[in-house]
Amino acid sequence: MRLDKARKSSNLDVNGALYAICSTGRGRCWHCDRKLPSVEEAIDGGWYVERVNGQHVASIILVCPKCRQKQAARDAKRFLRTLSPTVSNAVQ
Ligand SMILES: [Zn+2]
Repeated sequence: MRLDKARKSSNLDVNGALYAICSTGRGRCWHCDRKLPSVEEAIDGGWYVERVNGQHVASIILVCPKCRQKQAARDAKRFLRTLSPTVSNAVQ
């Protein structure tokens, strides 16, 4: 489930990863291709890194604040839909 995944990825050092990616100067949002700003702006702005477990290797992707919000909204909707049909109607 989505929640378990979120809990696991909290082991990831988000700020550390942001620093590492910023230092390469080539960070971009995985979803919309927005360029990663300076580390300070990224951390203040709510940039996020996610670990994605691929078939062979686990990789880290960048998510900008906008895409993160979109993702959160989508996840919340999906979660509410599983709770009850009444709530789901209210959300839509
Ligand atoms: Zn984005």
